[in-house]
Amino acid sequence: MPEIREDPVSGRLALVAPERGRRPTDFRVPEEKTETFRCPFCPGNEELTPPEILRLPPEGNSWKVRVVPNRYPALHPETAYAESHSPFYRRSPGAGHHEVVIETPDHGKPLHEFTPEEADLLFQAFFLRAREFAAEGRWRYVLLFKNRGRRAGASLSHSHSQILALPFVPGLVEREMVRAEAFLRETGECLFCRLVREEASGPRILAVDEHFVAFQAFAPRQPLETWIVSRIHGQTFWEMTSDLRLEFVALLLRILRALEATLPGLPYNFFLHTEPLGSPALPFFHWHLELVPALTRVAGFEWGAEAYIVPVRPEEAAAFLRPLIK
Ligand SMILES: [Zn+2]
Ligand SMILES: [Zn+2]
Ligand SMILES: [Zn+2]
Repeated sequence: MPEIREDPVSGRLALVAPERGRRPTDFRVPEEKTETFRCPFCPGNEELTPPEILRLPPEGNSWKVRVVPNRYPALHPETAYAESHSPFYRRSPGAGHHEVVIETPDHGKPLHEFTPEEADLLFQAFFLRAREFAAEGRWRYVLLFKNRGRRAGASLSHSHSQILALPFVPGLVEREMVRAEAFLRETGECLFCRLVREEASGPRILAVDEHFVAFQAFAPRQPLETWIVSRIHGQTFWEMTSDLRLEFVALLLRILRALEATLPGLPYNFFLHTEPLGSPALPFFHWHLELVPALTRVAGFEWGAEAYIVPVRPEEAAAFLRPLIK
């Protein structure tokens, strides 16, 4: 029986319409073509990327993580102001930063095969860049995201993520903030702390660690959509201690490995939602990570209705995934 569900955080609707007998393993994962060109992210090819911004470790010739400007940036810090103005068509300069985090020197190593210490370097790099962007004082938001696999928008298979400094707050975050503020006003409780409480003992839970929970989203956009939320209330991701960050990374890797065991080569996106820059403290917000696989096509219904048809019940996906989380 199809069911309409509303995501408590964004208000987005999902049409959960389980197809008969459809299991979380029943999706076809497109095969990745092997690349034959010189990979710009491999050691020895450093001159193929724009000049490096950051490397970890910072000293020495062998790097584990590099941050470089995106060769095809969506935004640029020194962009000219758009010349014509109209009260109807609003526009502003596409100013911002668009950077790539090369997560490993190893071309063939996907993120789920990293050790927690290796994967932690990605988030260390993100912390450093986010603090730098916050200090610049020009930007409204820092967005970290990862595209894995061609279907999920990755143009290179060498494991990497992207960091954008934006001159605006993304609409999705804006909607989450409006709803979270209203929720706090009406109930006296943080929307996300409540979400953690609901999910921790519910049918969609994947893992309850000391400081984090992971669960299948109640109203997902895609089969196997997974969220990681901190059990400690906090607005800003990069204010976490390094011990907590390592615990978070370890949980993310456990989730990625369980997803990989379910569908080898799974294409996915993940992104971090944290509070905007340069705003007063927003007690109602609470950072979180959303991981959205790219298994079903976004097509006419999704564009036209801004809602998503999901062919697997999240509760069934959770029951399937739980034993795979080691
Ligand atoms: Zn490579
Ligand atoms: Zn909270
Ligand atoms: Zn969010």
